[in-house]
Amino acid sequence: MSACSEIARRVQAGEVERDHFVRGALDRAREADSGDVPLHAFLSLETEEGEAAEGSLAGVPVAVKDNICTRELPTSCGSRILEGYVSPFEATVVRKLRAAGGWVLGKTNMDEFAMGSSTENSGYRPTRNPRDRARVPGGSSGGSAAAVAAGIVPCALGSDTGGSVRQPAAFCGVVGIKPTYGRVSRYGLVAFASSLDQVGSLGATVEDATRLLQAVSGHDPRDATSADRAVPDWAASFGVGVDGLTIGVPAEYFTEELDPAVAEVCREAFDRLREAGARVREVSLPHTRYAVPTYYILAPAEASSNLARYDGVRYGVRAPGAESIDAVYEESRTRGFGAEVVRRIMLGTFALSAGYYDAYYGRAQRVRALIARDFRRVWADGVDVLFTPTSPTPAFRLGERTTDPVAMYLSDIYTVTANLAGIPGISIPIGAVEGLPVGGQFLAPMWDEARMIQAAHALESLTGAVAGGVGDARREGTDA
Ligand code: GLN
Repeated sequence: MSACSEIARRVQAGEVERDHFVRGALDRAREADSGDVPLHAFLSLETEEGEAAEGSLAGVPVAVKDNICTRELPTSCGSRILEGYVSPFEATVVRKLRAAGGWVLGKTNMDEFAMGSSTENSGYRPTRNPRDRARVPGGSSGGSAAAVAAGIVPCALGSDTGGSVRQPAAFCGVVGIKPTYGRVSRYGLVAFASSLDQVGSLGATVEDATRLLQAVSGHDPRDATSADRAVPDWAASFGVGVDGLTIGVPAEYFTEELDPAVAEVCREAFDRLREAGARVREVSLPHTRYAVPTYYILAPAEASSNLARYDGVRYGVRAPGAESIDAVYEESRTRGFGAEVVRRIMLGTFALSAGYYDAYYGRAQRVRALIARDFRRVWADGVDVLFTPTSPTPAFRLGERTTDPVAMYLSDIYTVTANLAGIPGISIPIGAVEGLPVGGQFLAPMWDEARMIQAAHALESLTGAVAGGVGDARREGTDA
C-alpha cells in the first residue's frame, strides 16, 4: 500500500489524530534543517489544514512548491521580488488537495520563477540533495523532490515547464509526473511560460505520485486552458503489467551527451521490460535536437511578457526612495530579480522584438509543431509509450554548472520535448550510478496518462528501485 493510502486509511479509521502524520512531518522537516549541512527543502514551514476529514488524502502532509498560491503561507516563487507576498486567493490544486483531506506542509524552495535545473537560482538559498548533500537536488522543483526523498512527506506538488518535476525527481530518486497540458488547472500557479507550464506531482512511489495527481486533476472554469474531459481512475493502471505493450525507444535520446553509465542503467531497464512481455523497439523522433533551442526561445519569450507585471507597484517589494515612476520600475526590478531571470527577460524580449520576431519566435513556433508531429507519428505507428533517460547525468555538485548556463540548460534535453508537445511524462527511479539515483522516463500520447502510469508501475516493481533508505514518510509524530 502506498504511504498516502495508508495514512488516509489510518486517519479515517480514527486510529490516530487528524494531524498525527502532519506533526511527524513537521518534526522531520525541522530535523532535516538542523545539523552541519541543512537540507533547506522549505522556504516556509507551517501548515494549512485539510478541509475534509475524509478523502483520498485524509491527514496526508503535502509539500507545495512556492509558485503555487496558498492563502495563509507566503508565495515567493523563490524570488526576492515577491518576498513576503501572500496571495489573496488559493490555487485550484491547493483547494482540491485540501478538499481531499490533504494538509499543506510548507512551501518548497525552487529556482527563481522556476527558471533553472538545480534550485541554485533560488533568491534565498540552495536546497541540497538528501542522497548526497554536496549535490544539487535538481530543479526547479528541487525543494519538493528533496522533501519527498528525505522522507518528510510522501508526496508534493511541483510545476513542470521544461522538466522541473521530472528532472529533480530523477536526481533525488523519487517519482515525478507531468500530466498532459490542460489536465490540471493552472489557476493560482504563478505563470512562467503559460503554453508550457503544468502542475505536476512527486511521490515516494508511482502510487503516491498518482494519488496526488488524481486528487488535483480535472476541469476548472477558472483556467481557459484546462480541458473539459473526464479524468480516468488511474489506480486501475496499478499491477496491470507490461505484457503486450509496445514500448518505443527513441534513438535521438541516446546521444553523446548521455553519460554511458546512465545509458547502461536504461538498457537494463529495457531488458526487464522485455522479460516482462513488452515489445521494445527503436523509433525515431527526428526533430529532437532542436528541442532545447526551441524551448529557450519560446519559454523566455513567454516569461518576458508574464514577468512584466512585477513592477514594484502591484506585488512584493518596491525599491525605496525612487523619484519617478520609471525609477520605481527599474530599481525594483533590478533589486528584485536574480541573474538568470534577467537573462531570460533579455533573451525573450530580444526574440519578440520587431525585426527578430519571425527569425526567432516565429521559427521556434514552427519547429514546436514539428516536434509534436514526431510524437504523433510514433503513436500512429503503434507505439503505446516511449521510454527514455530523464536526464543525461545523475545529480551534479553544487556550483558545478552555475557559471555555464548552456551546460545547465542541457540537463533538460530529454524533458523539454514533452512540454513542447503537450504530452504527459513520468520519471521513476530505475537504478543508480555510484550511489546516485538514475531516473527513467515514460512518455505517452496526450490524455493517456493511464498507459504511462501502467508502464511505470510495472517497471517500478521490476527494478525495485523505489525511494527509501533516507527516510520514511510514514514514521509517526514524536509527540503523538
Ligand atoms: N530547467 C528548465 C528551465 O530552466 C525547465 C524549468 C521548468 O520546468 N520550470 O527553464
